[in-house]
Amino acid sequence: MIAALIDGKKIADEIKAEVRESSEQFRAVRGIIPGLAFVLVGDNPASQSYVRMKGKACEEMGFHSVTERLPADSSEKSILDLISRFNKDTRLHGILVQLPLPKQINEEKIITAIDYRKDVDGFHPVNVGRLVLGQKCLRPCTPAGIQELLVRSGHDPAGKHVVIVGRSNIVGKPVLNILLQKQQGANAVVTIAHTGAGDLSRYTLQADILIAAMGNPGCITGLMIKPGAVVIDVGSNRIPDPVAKSGYRFTGDVDFPSAVKVAGAITPVPGGVGPMTIAMLMKNTLEAAMTLYQ
Ligand code: NAP
Repeated sequence: MIAALIDGKKIADEIKAEVRESSEQFRAVRGIIPGLAFVLVGDNPASQSYVRMKGKACEEMGFHSVTERLPADSSEKSILDLISRFNKDTRLHGILVQLPLPKQINEEKIITAIDYRKDVDGFHPVNVGRLVLGQKCLRPCTPAGIQELLVRSGHDPAGKHVVIVGRSNIVGKPVLNILLQKQQGANAVVTIAHTGAGDLSRYTLQADILIAAMGNPGCITGLMIKPGAVVIDVGSNRIPDPVAKSGYRFTGDVDFPSAVKVAGAITPVPGGVGPMTIAMLMKNTLEAAMTLYQ
């Protein structure tokens, strides 16, 4: 069997086109242009590149965006002051602090300082709590993007056994909380595995839908996948590649060559989950703008 490819780029483009259209209608009726602020602290090249890509997506959507760059040795107070200013700025409906932050900064304190109604990353404790309770909230972009990928590629998780490998607060746990809800596009039976699981295959072989979010390149092999399963590879691992012009390439947590022979459908890396994250950020920004001024 050769798995069907789930094209994240194509689905992300569909979502962005919908967001752009809704945003234009919203602007025509209410005169409001969604606005997103980026806070970039330090000179981490990966963070710089993510913020550039997100800023470009804002341009595509016709959104207003600002990027505030702060030096790596910034104080916590200077970031908190900036957030306080952005919280009050009525032209801004979303605030995204690019993580990770330098060591001297308490990330939790920074995220909690964002007005939860502008928390387009969905990391504020109010949004996390509402997600767990099944209440309306801004949901984290990558997990919400995984749900969209599944539903729009014809793999509705309802009634399926979903096994997630990885329990981080930004991917594993929110994916669990999204897919577990008694709601359309969810209602799955969800298992979550981690480094304490022992033999991972014991769990992964039971998955109708397997979601790998580990940060461990090629860890999930074809032998660990139930024939015909849907495999979503969240991993985005930068590994050295002497052949690549940049000297590196991105690879997933799934060993693609062996997995593609067993799975029924699979996301590639790159071009799977990655583009969905940015599309969902745009969707969240529009949603925040509509909710703040409804
Ligand atoms: P993380 O915070 O490091 O968490 C990794 C999780 O995987 C942990 O729960 C860890 O278990 C588990 N794990 C790691 N190795 C394992 C193993 N051998 N067996 C079982 N469990 C294992 O990582 P993250 O932030 O969730 O990110 C995961 C991956 O997704 C990374 O490659 C990241 O770059 C990627 N990512 C991609 C996007 C995107 O937009 N495409 C967005 C976010 C993240 P313990 O808890 O027991 O340590």
